[in-house]
Amino acid sequence: MDYFYRQLDLPLQHYFVHQLRLPRNVDFFQMDTLLLTPYFFLILEIKNLAGILTFDHEHQQVLREQGGQQEVFADPVLQAEQQAASLKAWLQAHFGSSPPIHAYAVMTNNSSILKNAAPHALHHQIIRPPALRPILQALFEKEKCHALEDKLNVYVEALKKAYRPARYCAMGKYDINRADLRNGVFCPKCSGVMKWRHGNWVCSRCEHVSRDAHRKALDDYALLISSHISTGECQAYLQLPGINTAQRILKKMNLTHSGGTKTRKYHLPGHRR
Ligand SMILES: [Zn+2]
Repeated sequence: MDYFYRQLDLPLQHYFVHQLRLPRNVDFFQMDTLLLTPYFFLILEIKNLAGILTFDHEHQQVLREQGGQQEVFADPVLQAEQQAASLKAWLQAHFGSSPPIHAYAVMTNNSSILKNAAPHALHHQIIRPPALRPILQALFEKEKCHALEDKLNVYVEALKKAYRPARYCAMGKYDINRADLRNGVFCPKCSGVMKWRHGNWVCSRCEHVSRDAHRKALDDYALLISSHISTGECQAYLQLPGINTAQRILKKMNLTHSGGTKTRKYHLPGHRR
């Protein structure tokens, strides 16, 4: 798509925002690509599906035939429309108004064949990448009266601030179970197992001594397992001799926590950019 975006030669100041994820009530919504212009915003749901694709908006689905197999997918136009509705609500909540928002599903796979199950008003929102150029020209002409003037930067700043990246889930991505991970603190010098001795970590292989080798281990815990940890979980994970040591270590890190004394969970520092 980047190739097509570069070919657009948009006449005005504009921003392409990719994978924008915003909070909405208790959930989040995410847009593949959002184009911000002073006249309107445009949401593009990018799909790279191959095969014969039959769009059945009546039943909110896309049927794919490929190699004698049938599969069903969610209607990408409705997905994009849902994102547009969420973005509109978000903008109205933050600014009291919203510029016009348009939504399209862009089918990027050259080998796919697009078909319609029955005539439907949403068909014109399914496009191939080259259609973007004439569509944008028409939108710039149609929405001229809605010029945001210099307010565009205000919108951009607010969206940037509200952006919440999804937690990267390495465990799921590589199909690793909790039981596959080794517990314990490992030596920063030689990767040997470290043991807790009188307030210090001592490497059982090279005898390197560290006061805070557990911090790296807890960083890993936050990235791989959970951003919250209880004292019991901490004791097991760091292989500490007792629950009191775990409590002392967590307390010393000045972490924020939630829950009562028995159910307390400490919030490990996030890795959000
Ligand atoms: Zn060592």
